[in-house]
Amino acid sequence: MSIASFTRYPLLFGPSPVHRLDRLTRHLGGAAIWAKREDCNSGIAYGGNKTRKLEYLVADAVAGGYDTLVSIGGVQSNHTRQVAAVAAHAGLTSVLVQESWVDWPDPVYDKVGNILISRLAGADVRLVRAGFDIGFRRSWEQALRDVTDAGGKPYAIPAGASDHRLGGLGFANWAYELAEQERQLDVFFDTIVVCSVTGSTQAGMVAGFAALAEAGGRPRRVLGIDASATVARTREQVTRIAQRTAELIGVRRPLGDDDVELDERYHGGVYGVPDDATLNAMRLAARTEGMVTDPVYEGKSMAGLIDLVTRGEIPRDATVLYAHLGGQPALNGYSALFS
Ligand code: PLP
Repeated sequence: MSIASFTRYPLLFGPSPVHRLDRLTRHLGGAAIWAKREDCNSGIAYGGNKTRKLEYLVADAVAGGYDTLVSIGGVQSNHTRQVAAVAAHAGLTSVLVQESWVDWPDPVYDKVGNILISRLAGADVRLVRAGFDIGFRRSWEQALRDVTDAGGKPYAIPAGASDHRLGGLGFANWAYELAEQERQLDVFFDTIVVCSVTGSTQAGMVAGFAALAEAGGRPRRVLGIDASATVARTREQVTRIAQRTAELIGVRRPLGDDDVELDERYHGGVYGVPDDATLNAMRLAARTEGMVTDPVYEGKSMAGLIDLVTRGEIPRDATVLYAHLGGQPALNGYSALFS
């Protein structure tokens, strides 16, 4: 099997844009920094990394005659917003279990941003009191049973569309897409910086680049920045999904722990809450480039990128690609930070 043998349900505009971040590069004084923009990869409810993963899961759901996408995330989950909008786009319905993953006091936290869009798109949104966990949950299994009991056919999508047989394919395909863009732009990114929580974004990249390397491609560093603050769980999940995806797309060598690099210095101590480094990184990206990042995910990976370049842990002659994975709608739930 190769990546091309899997059916995609098209949800993206096409290849996501790749461009230089010249002012940020000059500000940091070293390493050439570029971005690849999953935050504007689709016209479906702002897109994001999950929309790319869902191309494979929705193709599977449609082929299997499923009528309801059932998924789970935090109250301000970008993932569940993308499931809701993609379901609408594909003529399906959705049930979303929204847990209290983040203890955040903003009075409109459960009313604006992602959850507002999910409601707008017609999802059955169920608020549940339970803390942060990237694993399988009883409330989600109950939602699946509810759909069956009501005569529907539920398609199960775990948190982040990650721990699913096809969860890594979207970003394995991203690796192929990037290799083609590099040919067109005559550039090679030796370092990719990517935020990791439920794991299949980084895992898919690792598997995709392993396949490309076996076909003669140059090796490169995929540097995961943990934003889960449950690092051991995320590392285990990235490794397991990378292995599963690599097998699916025909990588011959078995992937191991050494293939996964996950930096645990930038999660700020807790999922969903920014620390000063996160907020400073968000300001810098917005003030040098007009590039908007969120306090839960991309602000943390941007904080990692900035610090690693500043310290020289990413060398000055590196060519770095910041994978911007989306997430801006959640900003609306964090207004107090910028008032
Ligand atoms: N960035 C954003 C904006 C996200 O919504 C997510 C979702 O969890 C991530 C990064 C992390 O991606 P993953 O869960 O695939 O590790």
